[in-house]
Amino acid sequence: MPTPNHLIVHGAASVAHHLPSRHPLKPHRADDAVRLLLTAGMAGAGAAVVREPQPASDEDLKRVHDETYVSVAERLSRAPEDPTYLEPTSRDAVAHGFSPSGDNPPYREMAAVARHACGGVIQAARHVLDHTSAIAFVPSAGANHHAMRTRASGFGVYNDAAVAIAAIRSTGARVAYVDLDVHHGDGVEAAFATDPGTLTVSLHESTRYLFPGLPAGLADHIGTGNGAGFAVNVPLSPYTNDAAWLAAFESVVPPLLMAFQADLIIVQCGADGYHADPLAHLLLSEFAYISAASRLRELSGGRLVMIGGGGYDADATSRIWAAMFATATGVNVPREWVTNNAPTLDDRAAARVTAENNATVATVQGLVFPRHGLSVPGATDRRQPVRGARTGSGQPPT
Ligand SMILES: [Zn+2]
Repeated sequence: MPTPNHLIVHGAASVAHHLPSRHPLKPHRADDAVRLLLTAGMAGAGAAVVREPQPASDEDLKRVHDETYVSVAERLSRAPEDPTYLEPTSRDAVAHGFSPSGDNPPYREMAAVARHACGGVIQAARHVLDHTSAIAFVPSAGANHHAMRTRASGFGVYNDAAVAIAAIRSTGARVAYVDLDVHHGDGVEAAFATDPGTLTVSLHESTRYLFPGLPAGLADHIGTGNGAGFAVNVPLSPYTNDAAWLAAFESVVPPLLMAFQADLIIVQCGADGYHADPLAHLLLSEFAYISAASRLRELSGGRLVMIGGGGYDADATSRIWAAMFATATGVNVPREWVTNNAPTLDDRAAARVTAENNATVATVQGLVFPRHGLSVPGATDRRQPVRGARTGSGQPPT
């Protein structure tokens, strides 16, 4: 059983979305994950405490988001009956990423839901930093990782991870953010690209094939100014399977986390790299996510906040999130949460995926590791990676 001081931040305010039924984001994933944990005795009395999220304040939001953008998002949420709500040419709405038929359709509770996602991560982070909680989990947060300073993007309204990191950074604490989502964590990276006190690491399917598109998330995007070396991107080949994904994770994430020595680690647990996810092309099973959670548990030293993220096979996503939290808190995952039925690649395709990902990892290590005092594996045996080099063949493997 987990110790009583693990924390889950979740409540009705977390899932009060009113998205169109065609929208891929299904907020009940977070409810389902918590329900699995409650049913298994891993949350509730004697296990992880479940607390309602509190909304983030204006001050919290404005560390990351432009004031005008916040006021537009709040106005669109307050008055959905206003004709401008459904008017696709509404200058304010479109200029800030909202449209009725796009990724970010406004709805009445939109801003409140997003504020609670931000506030939930702030609560979780403060509890972990104060040592009043060990591992914390905010399953309804994380899918906002594309939200930018002045616009909604990719289902994200207020960037919950970035808002929480900014709140923690305002106290001087250093934060490592690990984004496992199949999509590049562009909004979080952009918020801290110049900050050497925030390490962002994103493992994602190459944006050559996936939202947010090129040039986001390339291996040679490592942050700018004082933040150079503190933004890390590992763009992976389509059809990357468990073994290849875990090899890339292991080659990059543990060395950097050990070198950076964050006061707090936030991991975005996007489960859309799952093989059956309808929006992406990786071949991960539950095993990859459980293995990553186990490593992050070891690496965090009990300073871990887990948040949700993408994941559009809703059933798999809730199982993966519950399994990751169980693993992070040191509890065995029930057998029925794991199917491990990912398709296998033939040898030729697997070799191509491995070669492409190895080249990417070598580029990342070559550009970033020396900035953290880490030696570059195999650097004496092969050509030094060239700054500006692009990885990827441009074609998915056959
Ligand atoms: Zn995603």
